[in-house]
Amino acid sequence: MKKILVTGGAGFIGSHLCERLLAEGHKIICLDNLSTGSLANLKHLGSNKYFQFIEHDLIEPFFVEVDEIYNLACPASPLHYQSAPLKTIKTCVYGVINMLELAKKTGAKILQASTSEVYGDPQLHPQPETCWGYVNPIGVRSCYDEGKRIAETLFFDYYRQYQVKIKVIRIFNTYGPRMHPYDGRVVSNFIVQALKGEDLTVYGDGSQTRSFCFIDDLLEGMVRLMQSEAEVRGPLNIGNPKEISILALAEKIMELTNSSARIIFQPLPEDDPQKRRPDIAVAKQKLKWEPLVPLEEGLRKTIAYFRKLALGKNR
Ligand code: NAD
Ligand code: UDP
Repeated sequence: MKKILVTGGAGFIGSHLCERLLAEGHKIICLDNLSTGSLANLKHLGSNKYFQFIEHDLIEPFFVEVDEIYNLACPASPLHYQSAPLKTIKTCVYGVINMLELAKKTGAKILQASTSEVYGDPQLHPQPETCWGYVNPIGVRSCYDEGKRIAETLFFDYYRQYQVKIKVIRIFNTYGPRMHPYDGRVVSNFIVQALKGEDLTVYGDGSQTRSFCFIDDLLEGMVRLMQSEAEVRGPLNIGNPKEISILALAEKIMELTNSSARIIFQPLPEDDPQKRRPDIAVAKQKLKWEPLVPLEEGLRKTIAYFRKLALGKNR
């Protein structure tokens, strides 16, 4: 049994990760400031004696003896990270330093949840890990994009200077049950709008693309990276290479929900990347990993989750 710290464990991905690691027989300490996550995501784990929740803000130091750290704490939706940009940066810098210091003191392995946003509006398509990115350093998305880039730098400097055992995963758009219904991300937005019979809000003309990975596939890649040999540090792309335009996604969700809603077009947000698709050759080779859940199957499961939520008339 390993003792594992999961930061951001009350969020969408973190809560699934806590659940999976518990099922594998480990002892989990979940750290979260509940800024975008929720205790409701952990309700079913509360009675497990190997699970402990601690409300804590990562920008303050924290000490506990652990074997592994999954560092997921950070708001992930553009709506949330842009609503408190300085807090986002502090979480990516102070928070990450605090966790790396903890790994240095305890000798724990540490995995950073990085993001495809480090590629910005990519010049290479699909994006391999060798792509250095095309990121606006002063735009509204920069607090997150540049925050996650400096977090990667910190990870590699702690490795070079102190030999901290690091793993860096670059997560591409992931979706599934327990996404926040109102954090503005496209899959949850479209499903909630379709179920409520509201217009589906496509930004721009909907020709921009994303590649959506179901939560179970992401977790498998994440856990395999943590368990991989020490030389496999990443950064490693984990995502589903099947690319879809945002307009086609809206149409697919209308079809799967039998919605009578309409699609409407709204202005494209600033610095919205035009295309995004992971090159996963390295994950295939090093982790023997590739995604297994087709978009339609994952969307059906996600829609079933949102159908059970009490979605009020308003937000
Ligand atoms: P989420 O918002 O659901 O979860 C983030 C969690 O971190 C929340 O529970 C929040 O309360 C917590 N948190 C935020 N700031 C904190 C702080 N200062 N101290 C303690 N806790 C804090 O988002 P998610 O989709 O589950 O994302 C988890 C991680 O994965 C994030 O680091 C995100 O950047 C990364 N990621 C996610 C995606 C995706 O598509 N979901 C894509 C790329 C990267
Ligand atoms: N998007 C959209 N309508 C929405 C929410 C998002 O058209 O209601 C678009 C958004 O402009 C972007 C894509 O969907 O092009 C993915 O947005 P999301 O916020 O989910 O993730 P990210 O931009 O970080 O990839």
